[in-house]
Amino acid sequence: MPTRTHKVLSRSVTVTRIAGVTIVEAKDLAVTTPVHQLDDGAWISVNDRRVMCVSNLWRLHDHEFCRCDVADVLAEGFVDVGVDRSYIDARIAGQCITCGSDGVTGWLQMGCVDPETDEFRAVVPGSVHRPRSVTR
Ligand SMILES: [Zn+2]
Repeated sequence: MPTRTHKVLSRSVTVTRIAGVTIVEAKDLAVTTPVHQLDDGAWISVNDRRVMCVSNLWRLHDHEFCRCDVADVLAEGFVDVGVDRSYIDARIAGQCITCGSDGVTGWLQMGCVDPETDEFRAVVPGSVHRPRSVTR
């Protein structure tokens, strides 16, 4: 699996107050945050820092992974990484430990990059996630 790079758009927000009027200017910057898949999909790195590892258990609700109401998917690898503004999404290959089905999840949110500090805030894998369908 090749290492892929994705760019995150940063957004700068300027708040100016002139004579009691607040002006908020939001600007999308082409300044980029590199997002990579490393080690054959074992890691996602953001800003050259490894932020999300496989081997987590992801709880999926409202999903198409298997027939369980709530799937407990043991992640084996990141298949794809996508960036939607400052949100990092990924599709995970893994196995539901309840029913044994294996496959690839829909798009799951991994976390987001704070546009101010460039810091990555990861989601908690063990909380319940609702994957975005690939076909939808
Ligand atoms: Zn299952």
